[in-house]
Amino acid sequence: MGYAMVRSVALHGVVGEVIVVEADVAPGLPSLVVSGLPDAALSEARDRVRAAVHNSGAYWPQQRITVNLLPAHVRKHGSGFDAAVAIAVLAAGSDLPIGRLADAVVLGELGLDGTVRPVRGILPAVLAASRAGVGFAVVPLANVTEARLVPDIEVRAADCLGRIIGYLYGSEHLLDPAVKPPSPEAAPLDLADVLGQERGRRVIELAAAGRHHVAMFGPPGAGKTMLAERLPGVLPPLNDHEAIEATALHSVAGTLSPGSTLIRRAPLQAPHHTASVAALVGGGSGLAKPGAISLAHNGVLFLDECAEFANGALEALRQPLEEGEVRLRRAYGETVYPARAQLVLAANPCPCAKPGGQQTCECPSMVRRRYQARLSGPLMDRVDLQVDLDPVRSAALINAEAVEPTAVVAGRVRAARDAAIARWAPHVGSNGEVPGSMLRHHRFRLPKPVVRPLTEAMDRGRLSARGFDRAVRVAWTIADLDGRERPEAGDVREALELRSRTVR
Ligand SMILES: [Zn+2]
Repeated sequence: MGYAMVRSVALHGVVGEVIVVEADVAPGLPSLVVSGLPDAALSEARDRVRAAVHNSGAYWPQQRITVNLLPAHVRKHGSGFDAAVAIAVLAAGSDLPIGRLADAVVLGELGLDGTVRPVRGILPAVLAASRAGVGFAVVPLANVTEARLVPDIEVRAADCLGRIIGYLYGSEHLLDPAVKPPSPEAAPLDLADVLGQERGRRVIELAAAGRHHVAMFGPPGAGKTMLAERLPGVLPPLNDHEAIEATALHSVAGTLSPGSTLIRRAPLQAPHHTASVAALVGGGSGLAKPGAISLAHNGVLFLDECAEFANGALEALRQPLEEGEVRLRRAYGETVYPARAQLVLAANPCPCAKPGGQQTCECPSMVRRRYQARLSGPLMDRVDLQVDLDPVRSAALINAEAVEPTAVVAGRVRAARDAAIARWAPHVGSNGEVPGSMLRHHRFRLPKPVVRPLTEAMDRGRLSARGFDRAVRVAWTIADLDGRERPEAGDVREALELRSRTVR
């Protein structure tokens, strides 16, 4: 044949682009040149593809082979082109007919033994093919469930290169495994489990309704972790666009469990305080992996023991939180991942972490001050809700009345979110994202008597200008939850009372 082409998909972050793998086989000394901006993994692909072809019982052309990936300007990472390269070479160098792939993309890495191995990012790759009008995708067997989440494209799977070759000769079928019914999503952790922590429950409801970043300070046993873990259940479920975005990010990270469906509940990521900067914001060679902040996109990033995180790690989160995306600069260019996550910070008020809290603290004041200095700075400026939580006393547990379940709170949150969206449209979508200038715009500025508790606190040096704006944002959320048009003095007072004594 001499020349053949097969289509595949290249990924940049979570955005896919259909590419063409073309192969030319010409007389000359046996060689294989791969061009079209290949990265290191593509060079390794040469040896992998050759071995896989041999071990599939096919004949590797003993001629001069040139493989080119088009368009040349598109950066191509990873090992997902192996199967397409092998098929293109075989079609160019032998009589392998590839008419059945005319409307297809071929995705998959090859093992030396000829198996077709799963790759990261199948969902965004197949989605890109579908959007480009491609009607058929051949994917690794282990990726088939994920690929089928994409509408308007026929998906078939291959377990080995030999099967694709057999399919093209008409002697074998591609695999079409039965769709397993998705396992029902586990019910979210319920806020009703958090007994005797009224203030904490209120804070979670406010955080959810206003999309405010939140920091909770309190001794062990105050229920900080329990509260944080229940925030996703209170948040509105992801819409179609958000669900595909979230699932695509987990697909590229390789954290999607086999057989999983679209992610519909706001995701929760809780990296340990020893997590590296790369684990938090993303990184790695080849197709860079999204970090925790991107895996928490449209959901919650929970940093427990946040004072224990390295300064550099917290600092690295600041820019993504402001811009809603992560830009990973690498030798071959930039990878961008969405990163619109809601931050939940939790910390003990001091390093000794006595269950009794401040009353029983044994830390020298120097140590206390140094510790608390770590809980301030530019990142904390973005956190509207900064609250102290007291330990839950056993009496409160025994006397606790039936508390509202997550479903009831989530209903109120939804209504409050809608009110905020209607008010701030089209600029921002939640109270937590409203810039200070907009809060002071004549249309939204609160009258003097309403903000008096705040101006008085400022005059006494107990509130900064930034703290003032944060309290006003929270007051809007309190009013939204109550179904009122505008905040009143009582809302502003509650916002001020919620503020932490630990951090100003
Ligand atoms: Zn202490």
